[in-house]
Amino acid sequence: MAQKKKSKPVKSKSSAKASSSVKAKTAKAKSHKYVYDFGKKTDGDATQRELLGGKGANLAEMAKIGLPVPPGFTISTEVCTYFYKNKKSYPKVLDDQMRSSVAIMEKQLGQKLGDLKKPLLLSVRSGARDSMPGMMDTILNLGLNDETVEALSAASGNPRFAWDCYRRFIQMYGDVVMGVQKLPSEDHDPFEAIIEDFKKEIFPKAKGEVDDSRISAVQMKELVSRFKNLVKKRTGSDFPTCPWEQLEGSIGAVFSSWMNDRASVYRRKYGIPAEWGTAVNVQAMVFGNTGKKSGSGVGFTRDPASGEKVLYGEFLTDAQGEDVVAGVRTPQPVAKLQKVLPKPFKELVLVQKKLEKHFKDMQDFEFTIENEKLYMLQTRNGKRTGLAAVRIATEMVKERLIDWKTAIKRVPADQLDQVLAPVFDQAAQKAAARLCKGLPAGPGAASGKICLNAERAVEAAKKGTVLLVRQETSPEDLRGMIAAEGILTARGGVSSHAALVARQMGKVCVCGAADLDVDYKTRTVKVAGKTFKEGDYMSINGTTGEVFAGELKTAPSEIIQVLIEKKLDPKKSRAYQNFSQLMKWCEQATRMTVRTNADSPTQVANAVAFGATGIGLCRTEHMFFEGNRIDAMREMILADDELIRRKALKKLLPYQRRDFHGIFKALEGKPATIRLLDPPLHEFLPHDQSAQRDLAKKLGVSLASIKKRVEDLHEFNPMLGHRGCRLGISYPEVTEMQAQAIFEAAILAQKSGIEVNPELMVPLVGFPRELELQVEVIHATAKKVFEAKGVKVKYLVGTMIEIPRAALVADEIAKTAQFFSFGTNDLTQTTMGMSRDDSGSFLPNYTELDILDANPFASVDQSGVGQLMEIAVKKGKSSRRGIKLGICGEHGGDPKSVEFCHKIGLNYVSCSPFRVPTARLAAAQAAVS
Ligand code: PEP
Ligand code: MG
Repeated sequence: MAQKKKSKPVKSKSSAKASSSVKAKTAKAKSHKYVYDFGKKTDGDATQRELLGGKGANLAEMAKIGLPVPPGFTISTEVCTYFYKNKKSYPKVLDDQMRSSVAIMEKQLGQKLGDLKKPLLLSVRSGARDSMPGMMDTILNLGLNDETVEALSAASGNPRFAWDCYRRFIQMYGDVVMGVQKLPSEDHDPFEAIIEDFKKEIFPKAKGEVDDSRISAVQMKELVSRFKNLVKKRTGSDFPTCPWEQLEGSIGAVFSSWMNDRASVYRRKYGIPAEWGTAVNVQAMVFGNTGKKSGSGVGFTRDPASGEKVLYGEFLTDAQGEDVVAGVRTPQPVAKLQKVLPKPFKELVLVQKKLEKHFKDMQDFEFTIENEKLYMLQTRNGKRTGLAAVRIATEMVKERLIDWKTAIKRVPADQLDQVLAPVFDQAAQKAAARLCKGLPAGPGAASGKICLNAERAVEAAKKGTVLLVRQETSPEDLRGMIAAEGILTARGGVSSHAALVARQMGKVCVCGAADLDVDYKTRTVKVAGKTFKEGDYMSINGTTGEVFAGELKTAPSEIIQVLIEKKLDPKKSRAYQNFSQLMKWCEQATRMTVRTNADSPTQVANAVAFGATGIGLCRTEHMFFEGNRIDAMREMILADDELIRRKALKKLLPYQRRDFHGIFKALEGKPATIRLLDPPLHEFLPHDQSAQRDLAKKLGVSLASIKKRVEDLHEFNPMLGHRGCRLGISYPEVTEMQAQAIFEAAILAQKSGIEVNPELMVPLVGFPRELELQVEVIHATAKKVFEAKGVKVKYLVGTMIEIPRAALVADEIAKTAQFFSFGTNDLTQTTMGMSRDDSGSFLPNYTELDILDANPFASVDQSGVGQLMEIAVKKGKSSRRGIKLGICGEHGGDPKSVEFCHKIGLNYVSCSPFRVPTARLAAAQAAVS
């Protein structure tokens, strides 16, 4: 990383002075507090996440409620902000405050940094406000050098353990602080490569993986020496021996890691502002690697994949915490601790209960057992799948841990579609060749071409679905994980990096599939006697952990089977029960309703099953492509005069009427916003010669005349051309036909006892007069139809607000429009002057460079486009107080945009049918927060 080694150390004094001048310095240190202690003396608490980061705040809280937390201190996020504003330097008082805090730790533990009898060893970890698992750097076993390692060896009576700590420290510090990392030509971390080669040297006959525990103290010492040589060779510097210098280097590296590539990618994906900064936690080491009575683990108070209320997690005996997360060794389920180390297990069960009761959310915690004594190193609200989020939230209400409004806030709205995601088709799965089984770490079904490297996965994903297959994943693989459909690893447990990140992203994940032999050199995966090359298909079931050969067919989720296919008894599906409970609470909480963008009865029925309260946008043009009605449409477009055009429109009328009737029936009285013809006409004509010839034959006209009309309709910039209401103004008979079809269908439905609420919407209005002209046609048509049928139906006429001028003159437009619906696709396009169809070529770069936070076509650009919406709302209401306001651009299904729509006072959002639950949840969340 570019920042590595560049960070300036904390202003150093000699290490010997580390704690001597504490008293003299305290007066100065009081000026502004940057360092917060935890342990016997605790300054902070869980409410101070902004200042102390999530980890620091919760360490303080755990210490406060009496849980066994090793002492330490947190350097606040303010220091991170200072660091970046001041050329990577620190506030003057920081050094003194740190020295005071180290002295407090030394006193509590009876150890000293750099001491030759009882050396204090430290961990240095990042801790942002929102957890960013594995994205930033960590240093463990800090304080070791050639002398203190001997002291640790003597004090613990365990030389192997001491030398193991030392080699780990050199490995971490060498990588993170000194920048000794994998070169582009290397497939493996250089330190790991040394270990692998060394194991082959000392166990030449061993088959398969050799456990680290077989490496003796003397051999560890040799590894230390090889590691130091590597550091010297790659950096030209000796490994630092002074503990205070080590501490300074580590703190600088952790602050620098806030801006490393993977942390930046992660922040962008999860919308974490760079200004937040990270805190740094310095804590006394406790050791899980002192032997069989020690170990490290990660636990969850509930299963983060399914949400089931069980103590879930895993541990490794004789290991440090990083071993569990790194996924290098596959750990054991935490329940097995009961047998191996019953005393600390009992304590852990009590602690996890206390944690959940105290934090009132599912906790993801890290623990270490040192010679049978339990220590808590971290707790945070656990990341979970969408499925688990729904279950945990609903069950916690039943358990009276939280109320129903909190439950609504607990399910991330953008994760809700995970519960609707397909699973493998049962029959296809039975027939498939099962290769092996790993740990089910991220539920769902995924098939794809296998890729053994993140960069190649990103490239391959541009062409199709990809499974990222790795021995284990590390944070460097983040981009590949984002691009892949699913993730499969040979090593690592359910709390490994792969599993953690996959769950959060809602990716399907199987990890620890030990039978897989993943060979990076030959780019092959060998399993069950078969060899798969990169690009071959594999499938994984992240709910069961099974791995299959080939591409597998998928089937709908349980919720779809209940609601849409009606194949599953709702009482038999727990997933459905939880989902439906959550949706009921949403309905109770929401102010805005959710409509759908749909233009067929089936789409409407689906959306209504998901709770849509009507249609927010029916794009009538989609109806012209069905069956052979496109011929009549083309005849209409090719017409030379109004008479011929009307003849063709007459043919289209019955089709449209039938479509609208079907939609009214499916809606059962719910309102339907039906938009009049919008796209440029050339979109309906064939552009290739043979299709043009067929059309000429069908219509009995010459090929040349068709070609000429296509040429005439050609526009250099069709999105800004002859489209929207401009069509209806040029050809009022088109508006007339559509209005007639809507009113006749409505009367038909009404006659059969179905309530109807049509809302006719005029697109792309920018001038009040445009709308007036179209409304005149609509009213005149209504009058004609009602007189002819002897019946009336009530209806509304309104417009889309989708070009900036419409927003700016919304008060004038609202004199005619009974409702506005924001067409934010076009509004974004026209406000930004960015083509909605062509911006894909430069937008990713724009978000990378922080010109834009997110794709503005997916999430409303609140300060620009949003401002226009606010103007339109205000102006619209000023001339028509009760004007109905909605949104029907793609943004209507985006949780952040839904929240914005709530804030500016819209009545409803409209989105595609399968996004309806997400939008309902987002609307309810906006209402309760
Ligand atoms: C819009 O512009 O936001 C809209 C909904 O209309 P369309 O996407 O059909 O142009
Ligand atoms: Mg539009």
